Amino acid sequence: MITPSTTIRQAPAWQHALRDAFSRPAELLDFLGLDPALPVLDAERLRDFGLRVPRGFAERMRKGDPDDPLFLQVWPRGAEAYAVDGFGLDAVGDMAKLKPGGIVHKYHGRVLVMTTGACGVHCRYCFRRHFPYSEALAARDHWSEALAQIEADESIHEVILSGGDPLSLSDDKLGEFLDGLDRIAHVRRLRIHTRQIVVLPERVDDSLIERLSRTRLATVIVLHANHANELDTAVAEACARLRAIGVTLLNQAVLLRRINDDAAALRALSERLFACGVLPYYLHLLDRVAGSAHFEVDEASALALMRELSAQLPGYLVPKLARESAGEASKRVLA
Ligand SMILES: *Cc1c(COP(=O)(O)O)cnc(C)c1O
Ligand code: SF4
Repeated sequence: MITPSTTIRQAPAWQHALRDAFSRPAELLDFLGLDPALPVLDAERLRDFGLRVPRGFAERMRKGDPDDPLFLQVWPRGAEAYAVDGFGLDAVGDMAKLKPGGIVHKYHGRVLVMTTGACGVHCRYCFRRHFPYSEALAARDHWSEALAQIEADESIHEVILSGGDPLSLSDDKLGEFLDGLDRIAHVRRLRIHTRQIVVLPERVDDSLIERLSRTRLATVIVLHANHANELDTAVAEACARLRAIGVTLLNQAVLLRRINDDAAALRALSERLFACGVLPYYLHLLDRVAGSAHFEVDEASALALMRELSAQLPGYLVPKLARESAGEASKRVLA
């Protein structure tokens, strides 16, 4: 899954850590001291979207607790196989909007670029499992189609790298794209949507810092953490390095049943993010994709949670509750 470096030199430490991630359910259970008979999704479905958990992330889980909020995000439960009304394959309508070059241009002034299908972790609630990545990935042709499309549209001021996880690409591959974007005068901002910094903080190494400090683009990184326990010292240090080179750090979380659907958990997340130099941005209602229904929190409960949160935190630590919806000019902000 990892793009090999184009030059001959040793693979960076983060790539070793990725390769070393847990991929066998039995090994993860053993590591966590959990019952080896804990039910798991059938092997056939697991072949499509397997278990993947970096060891460093597993180390942040509580041993012996099958209800740990980090474990619940990555454990493939049998419930993923249930068909539930309203949960389909393209919940947010992005597949229909995907253009050649891996570009999704839904909102004014900014485009989303599907850079790669690979991720450092497999989050069980994610839409990514159903995305036809084989069809349109921006990195495939050395970014030439994506860059041509961005260059041709002067209304584009911000380019958002998404996926998959853009930081599962090598720095060479990423650097190629940044070089191209740097040359397009109407592009002012670079945004990277990534979970890698949270699940694999080793990713923020000297090479990445060097490359990001070289771009002329104002850079925003939107992390994805759903629970305060995800943000350990190593993550805080990675965030500090990025802040030191002037990167703006934001976080998006997904509201997930039994994981962060109470005011105390959300408050702790916001407080911990701020301590790491990150501001909460969006709290997303779940995209209704097949296999994720057991994670859903209904809208009325979500709104009640937001009221509690607003009563307990300064405004800048309250994320915007948002729902991705097809065919609108922006994400729909509910609170
Ligand atoms: C979420 C998203 C964006 C970014 O929206 P912001 O509200 O600016 O964070 C851009 N394009 C697409 C297709 C998106 O889904
Ligand atoms: S795209 Fe993000 S949320 Fe989805 S599996 Fe990858 S890291 Fe997890």
